[in-house]
Amino acid sequence: MKLIGIDLDGTLLNHEKKISKENINAIRDAQSEGIEVSIVTGRPFFNVKSILEDADLTTYVISNNGSSIHSREGNQLYSVTMDKKDIIEITSFLEDRNFYYEVSTDDIIYTPSNVKEIFDIEIDKLKSANPDTDMNSVEAKNFLKWIFNESMFKRIDSFNDFKQMNDKFCNVLAFSFDNNKKNDAINHFKTMDHLDLFSSSDHNFELINRLTSKGIALEKLSSMINSSMDECMAIGDSYNDVSMLRMAKHSVAMGNANADIRELCSFTTLKNDEHGVAHAIYKFINGTI
Ligand code: CA
Repeated sequence: MKLIGIDLDGTLLNHEKKISKENINAIRDAQSEGIEVSIVTGRPFFNVKSILEDADLTTYVISNNGSSIHSREGNQLYSVTMDKKDIIEITSFLEDRNFYYEVSTDDIIYTPSNVKEIFDIEIDKLKSANPDTDMNSVEAKNFLKWIFNESMFKRIDSFNDFKQMNDKFCNVLAFSFDNNKKNDAINHFKTMDHLDLFSSSDHNFELINRLTSKGIALEKLSSMINSSMDECMAIGDSYNDVSMLRMAKHSVAMGNANADIRELCSFTTLKNDEHGVAHAIYKFINGTI
């Protein structure tokens, strides 16, 4: 056994968005057994780096859904980016339809500056259509907390700002509490077949270059360390994990994952709030997975 790929949200992170001491110790124990560990997440590299620093861990990092691989020292080993003209086309469409979006690079996340207005309009509309609309789900609360975390974002005035930029764009995430609006946009973007489209939570969808995925990047990393997906375990909870869960010989669903994900995997571990990652890692080390 050579490599463990671990998703972050809903997997390694608990509901407080922290890595538990049990999970930290399990990752260190795997590394001391000579097993490499990689975070495999939709989050951008700069954000993963600060989460790992807070936990005093060093691992490989596959970020932005497979767009980048970084070594334990923080050097970039692999990168698949999106064309600027796609970024402009996508964000222009999203702005037209009053979507909240995030455009990520390894170093930064761009979001619209009128984020409050976007959600005020959306929530008013939803509440007038359905007065029982519940904005108090855990996902909704976590999301609203995330988007107003000012240290994470660079606000832009409009998609036109991208025209002047020369960043390496990795990933676009669009979010809406309105399922009809979200599904219409998904159907529209499905026609851009050089892009891969998937959801990492109930109310979002994400777009990346079709030439990569969490699974493709994890396979790339396994060959870089002279291993293969036969010696790899992947752990995840959501649809953006499907590519790596299908490709790794040992696929582990979190206890909190939905039924589709659990059915796809060879093993289901405990929930993210029960240190499910540590539980799976010790089974992997002992060869009982
Ligand atoms: Ca996840």
